[in-house]
Amino acid sequence: MKRIEDYVISIPDFPEPGVIFRDVTGILEDADGLQLAVDLMQERIKDVDFDIIVGPESRGFIFGVPLAYNLHKPFIPVRKAGKLPRETAAVEYALEYGTGTLEIHKESIKPGQRVVIIDDLIATGGTNKGIIKLVEELGGVVVKAVFLMELKGLKGREKLKGYDVESVIQYE
Ligand code: 5GP
Repeated sequence: MKRIEDYVISIPDFPEPGVIFRDVTGILEDADGLQLAVDLMQERIKDVDFDIIVGPESRGFIFGVPLAYNLHKPFIPVRKAGKLPRETAAVEYALEYGTGTLEIHKESIKPGQRVVIIDDLIATGGTNKGIIKLVEELGGVVVKAVFLMELKGLKGREKLKGYDVESVIQYE
């Protein structure tokens, strides 16, 4: 049986020279790979007491929605600026390559609701620091963040210090 890391395709120099991109499409293209990825992430939140899954565009959607469906929880999308139609809260965030603005619907999280963040990968942690800021601005409580992959060398975990962070696969 293949391990989840066997499905990840590593692409050198994408999207910029010097970056090794860990491509999840190799997982998605294989029914066993997709099922294994969702199962391994689900294992890490199935006993957590929470109300909502929050996931960022676009690969956070891929894994966040099946987890929300399986655990019968709502899924709240975080999107890039200008995509969400209702009133939003926004945050500037720093990426491994570039910067941007993330938005969430203001009414999507009620004060005190317990939130699990799901994304495919943590690199510098900039994206997820931004998501935590958005969730907390709306009064939500981040109880856990789960990533399929972690690029340990970029020290994203340090940026999310004080939060419960887990990853399924780690790259140095
Ligand atoms: P960070 O904000 O932690 O530096 O970057 C994480 C975000 O960038 C995630 O939303 C992730 O989807 C994307 N990302 C950065 N590097 C990679 C990579 O090598 N592979 C994949 N699949 N996503 C990446």
